[in-house]
Amino acid sequence: MQMSNIKDKVVVITGASSGIGESTAKLLAKQGAKVVLGARRLDRIDAVVQEISATGGKAIGFATNVTKRAEVEALIQGAVDGFGRVDVLINNAGIMPIAPIEALKVDEWDRQIDVNIKGLLYGVAAALPHMQKQKSGHIINIASVFGIKMFAPGGTVYCATKAAVRALTEGLRMELHSQNIRCTMISPGAFATELSEFMKMAIPASAIARAIAYAIEQPVEVEVDEMVIRPTVQDF
Ligand code: NDP
Repeated sequence: MQMSNIKDKVVVITGASSGIGESTAKLLAKQGAKVVLGARRLDRIDAVVQEISATGGKAIGFATNVTKRAEVEALIQGAVDGFGRVDVLINNAGIMPIAPIEALKVDEWDRQIDVNIKGLLYGVAAALPHMQKQKSGHIINIASVFGIKMFAPGGTVYCATKAAVRALTEGLRMELHSQNIRCTMISPGAFATELSEFMKMAIPASAIARAIAYAIEQPVEVEVDEMVIRPTVQDF
């Protein structure tokens, strides 16, 4: 009998230098996954890799800016070179600068589209050929409750990028399920990370890590399509 559907899986996580990505990396490594971590702050990535390795886990890390397609390809290639395959890609990197539309922070609009949407697509482009060759894989996209409902003024562009993550995840599911590639979207509410410092009701990122582990550990014929996870007290 297989002991765990997480043990020995090769899991690539973008935005793994803090918050949800870091917490997920630690939990999955504890459960026996081989984790491959990417983000821009290499010192932070190295610290997470060291912490995981010191407790007997398997982790490697790369400086990855998801807005640069070549760096995302290098991250996935790093997983293949280091651990032989890519079982799971967690598209987690994301930013949420808040400003009313009338402030016309066009550079911030561009950055959100580049990180939250195009970064995710670069991950898919890099990982998909490997998953197709393996005839198995799992793409997990981190969206937001703000992909389901609007928060404005302030979050109009962010909400639009997360609604796009929702559309992309469902489209990927429809296109890839026949190739034995599972797709999951996880929509967090308020979680205590660098991104959400202003949200008083925020709860620890480890709850999202557990949700991700749940989706991964299901038997191969079971696809968890979507989870929305909020603090119990959150009303939006
Ligand atoms: P953090 O700010 O703690 O983490 C964001 C991560 O994304 C960091 O590791 C950061 O690393 C990385 N990142 C940002 N820009 C880039 C880039 N260009 N290339 C690569 N990595 C990048 O926030 P969270 O953990 O909260 O965010 C994780 C995801 O969860 C995001 O997609 C966010 O939208 C989503 N989310 C979070 C909620 C919350 O309440 N916290 C609520 C709903 C959704 P670095 O700076 O080193 O590159």
